[in-house]
Amino acid sequence: MQSFGLNPANQHIQSPPLWLLAELTYRCPLQCPYCSNPVDFARSGEELSTVQWIDVFKQARALGAAQLGFSGGEPLVRQDLAELVKAARDLGFYTNLITSGIGLTERRITELSEAGLDHIQISFQAADEEVNNMLAGSKKAFAQKLAMARAVKAQGYPMVLNFVTHRHNIDRIDRIIELCVELDADFVELATCQFYGWAELNRAALLPTREQLEYAEGVTQQWREKLAAQNHPCKLIFVTPDYYEERPKACMSGWGSLFLDITPDGTALPCHSARQLPIEFPNVKEHSVQHIWQESFGFNKYRGFEWMPEPCRSCDEKEQDFGGCRCQAYMLTGDASNADPVCSKSKHHGIILAAREEAEQAPLGVDSMIFRNEKMSNIIIKG
Ligand code: SF4
Ligand code: SF4
Repeated sequence: MQSFGLNPANQHIQSPPLWLLAELTYRCPLQCPYCSNPVDFARSGEELSTVQWIDVFKQARALGAAQLGFSGGEPLVRQDLAELVKAARDLGFYTNLITSGIGLTERRITELSEAGLDHIQISFQAADEEVNNMLAGSKKAFAQKLAMARAVKAQGYPMVLNFVTHRHNIDRIDRIIELCVELDADFVELATCQFYGWAELNRAALLPTREQLEYAEGVTQQWREKLAAQNHPCKLIFVTPDYYEERPKACMSGWGSLFLDITPDGTALPCHSARQLPIEFPNVKEHSVQHIWQESFGFNKYRGFEWMPEPCRSCDEKEQDFGGCRCQAYMLTGDASNADPVCSKSKHHGIILAAREEAEQAPLGVDSMIFRNEKMSNIIIKG
C-alpha cells in the first residue's frame, strides 16, 4: 500500500501524506467571522464531483494516507457525503466529519453511520444562545447544534465538541465547560482563534488579552481537576493562540511532511491556509496525487531545511518547529521564507508584540467584525 518517493528538494526519503483533508465545499449556511477559509473563496472554481473525489481518495490511499477528514465550508451541504464516506471506508481510511451540525438530521447521522463514518466533531460558536447565533448569523443554529450533539451521542458516537474562543466568548469559558458536561461530551477542544483567513481580517476584534487567556486556562484547569476527582470521562483540550508564545508552532509538523489538503476545486495544498501564498499550487484535475506530493514545486518549496534564511538556518531549534508557519510569515512580513514572527528571535517579532498591545488597548466590539459570506467575499475580491 505504501510507496515512498525521493524528494528532489532535499534528497531524502519522502514520508507519505498520512492525513488527508477533503475540503468538500466552501458553501456554508453560517458566517463565522473567524472562519479559516480564504477570504476570496467566492472565486474558487467548480467543486470536484463525487467520482473525482473518490479518485483522489484512491490515489492518496495508495501513497499511504490513513486518516481522512471531511470539512469545508459545511461538508453536509454535499448530498453525496455518505457515498464519499463509504468509498473512503472501503479503501481503509479512518474517517472524521468536521461539521457545524447545520444540515445534520437523525436520518443523516444514521446514513453516515451505515456508511462507516468513524468520528464526528461538532463546532459551537458560544455557550449562550444569543452570542452563538449572532456569531453564526443564524437564529436557529444553537438549538440545532444542541439537538445534533445529543443525536450523535445517542447513535453511539463519542461526543466531540469544538469551541473557537476569542475575546467575545472566552470570559464565559466556565459556562462553555458547564454546557459540555451537561451534554455528556467526551472530548472538548477549547481552541483559541488562530489568525488565518477571515480571522486574520478580524484579528483586532478577536484576539483576547493575556489576562483573558490566563483566566480561561486557569478555569479549564480547575474543571479538569474537578472532572478527574469525579472520574468523569470528559477530556478538555485548551489551545492557546500562538500570538502569546515566544516560539512558533511546528506548523503541520513540517511543510509537505504528513498533511495534504484538497480544496473544493481540487487545488492541493500543504496546509489549508497556503492558498494565499504567491505560489501556483497544483490541482488534482491536472496532476496525479503522487506527482503533487512528491514532485510538485509547491509541495517541495519549503520542505526540509535548505530553503531557510537566517535566523532559522543556523538555529538549533529548527528541527522542532521548522521555522514556524509559512503563511503567518507571509501574512505578517510579506515573505513566506522568513522566520514566523511569533518567534522572539525573528526581527519581525515586534509585529506580534504590537498585536498583543492592540488587544490590551483597543478592544473592538462585535459591530466592527466582517462576517464570512459570499457577498462579503465578492466585495473583498473586487477590492
Ligand atoms: S467556521 Fe463557520 S463559516 Fe466557516 S465553514 Fe465553519 S461553520 Fe462555516
Ligand atoms: S529562529 Fe526559526 S528555527 Fe529558530 S526557534 Fe525561531 S522560528 Fe524556530
